[in-house]
Amino acid sequence: MSRIAYVNGRYLPHCDAAVHVEDRGYQFADGVYEVCEVRGGRLIDERRHMERLVRSLSELRIAMPMSLRALSVVLHEVVRRNGVRDGIVYLQVTRGVAKRDHAFPPNGTRPAIVVTASRIDPARTERFAAEGIAVVTVPDNRWDRVDIKSIALLPNVLAKQAAREQGAREAWFVASDGTVTEGSSSNAWIVTAGREVVTRKADHSILKGITRTVLLEVLKAHDLTLVERPFTVAEAMGAREAFITSASQTVMPVVRIDGQPVGNGAPGLVASALRADFGRYTEKS
Ligand code: PMP
Repeated sequence: MSRIAYVNGRYLPHCDAAVHVEDRGYQFADGVYEVCEVRGGRLIDERRHMERLVRSLSELRIAMPMSLRALSVVLHEVVRRNGVRDGIVYLQVTRGVAKRDHAFPPNGTRPAIVVTASRIDPARTERFAAEGIAVVTVPDNRWDRVDIKSIALLPNVLAKQAAREQGAREAWFVASDGTVTEGSSSNAWIVTAGREVVTRKADHSILKGITRTVLLEVLKAHDLTLVERPFTVAEAMGAREAFITSASQTVMPVVRIDGQPVGNGAPGLVASALRADFGRYTEKS
């Protein structure tokens, strides 16, 4: 089945799916995005992802390209046309196409929108979860509004590449005070010796992950204590467990940090239980 993308009102084969050279996303990374997990052909937590999209756009004063209802139709249609049962749907909105000038384009410039979908083999993700993944740490050199899901991802790109070059799946950003902020494309968590589940408060220093939000519900149901506070790399290395969350991986155990084993070096019981139960708490559409 050939891949189809939605580009500014049209469903196009990938070979014809292109944006203008003066799209502000292309020239200034002046845009935002969302990634929703697709399971069994249904979107996971679409409502929450769309709420976050609306917030990101409003923080940057970019207009919604279409109604949420119309957008939902497009998202489902792209998933359907690509025959994606398990994978992700990607949505990007930029400030539109205009003659290059850093300042905002003239009023009435229409935002540009692209939607793509791709398959992810769930068995592969399960294999990573069964073994646990390694993370490395890198300095957090991003701007101070990473709560906005902007397409400006150069620090995240370089961090992920550093991880890959060291045989790890993810990089954790570390603030100048030595605390972990989040992963290059995930939120970061630890489980303490006292079985407290710790993750950073969702302020401007992290993206408020949708998986993070849903996991708070799962924690309650499991009678686990949540503590929203920063933790250092040393604390994470000495923790009972560590894990990351993101839409495409849900709860993924972390078993090594900068080459040091976490706990006994195997996926933790808490992370594994949360992963196993996560799907019961998501919204499917
Ligand atoms: N932080 C960053 C920097 C991310 O890119 C992501 C993935 N979008 C997350 C956290 C996790 O967010 P979510 O659970 O909504 O996928």
